[in-house]
Amino acid sequence: MSSTTPDLARIVSDIADEMRERPDRGEVATYIPELARVGADAFGITVIDADGTVVAAGDSETPFSIQSISKVFTLTLALGMVGDRLWRRVGREPSGSPFNSIVQLERERGIPRNPFINAGAIAVTDVILSGHQPREALGEILRFMQFLAQDPTITIDEAVAASELRTGFRNTALANYMKSFGVLDNPVDFTLGVYFHHCAISMSCRQLAMAGRFLAHSGRNPSTGHSVVSPERARRINAVMLTCGHYDGSGEFAYRVGLPGKSGVGGGILAVAPGKASIAVWSPGLDASGNSHLGRIALEALAKRLGWSIFGA
Ligand code: GLN
Repeated sequence: MSSTTPDLARIVSDIADEMRERPDRGEVATYIPELARVGADAFGITVIDADGTVVAAGDSETPFSIQSISKVFTLTLALGMVGDRLWRRVGREPSGSPFNSIVQLERERGIPRNPFINAGAIAVTDVILSGHQPREALGEILRFMQFLAQDPTITIDEAVAASELRTGFRNTALANYMKSFGVLDNPVDFTLGVYFHHCAISMSCRQLAMAGRFLAHSGRNPSTGHSVVSPERARRINAVMLTCGHYDGSGEFAYRVGLPGKSGVGGGILAVAPGKASIAVWSPGLDASGNSHLGRIALEALAKRLGWSIFGA
């Protein structure tokens, strides 16, 4: 048992209580119709410390659509497959643009700014798909999530995937545009099919915090001893999360929270306190940049009360 645990438990439950009471809840995403069915009332949080102690509050066991949080894991997989050659296909600079923006692609000849905006994540998915059938690539991604979370029950929400497939005109445009520059190797509908499905993976805060533990501990899950990536790679993935994980809200997230983090339009955020903890929060209402409104506020409170910002207490 960690000596910090009683304090951590109190802080986490205080934050969950505070979040439940707040009237400002953000706006649930509606551009993927299936996501609009979720109410804005939910709030969940799970913190897993270095000892593996799980501290949770609120709706921490309810599965939600992880959406763009899946991009952390597809980046990890693609780096494992092709190593630094991945960076020929995608940059690692913040975009300062919305997650689904197309504007930079023309000037930068179809090379997306980073692996976390939609265009970049579609390019990363295309790398994972190469040499495989879409079903195999998707199975690989899902099994990776199950392995990291140590939970074989994690599944894809087919209704969410189908909903995005029907309405994902913007992502289809991004993929076709990149294809015209030769940045995608596979048929556009195959790449998009895998992309929409990995965004539609459902996980709870607890499962997500488990899956993120290797990023908090130099590439290794300290409880199982499983080494997932090298310490150098974990550090670099965290760096990209810090600079690009919240799109055009990344500067604000670094300023307020001070932790590497990745958001998704399902309202989840995975955050990493290096050496200390893996944290997942979920609140479906979003801010103007498409990041969880209360999720960010909760992480800001947590990092502040525990002195966990990587920039100092
Ligand atoms: N699947 C979503 C999309 O492509 C993911 C976006 C997000 O979570 N920011 O639009």
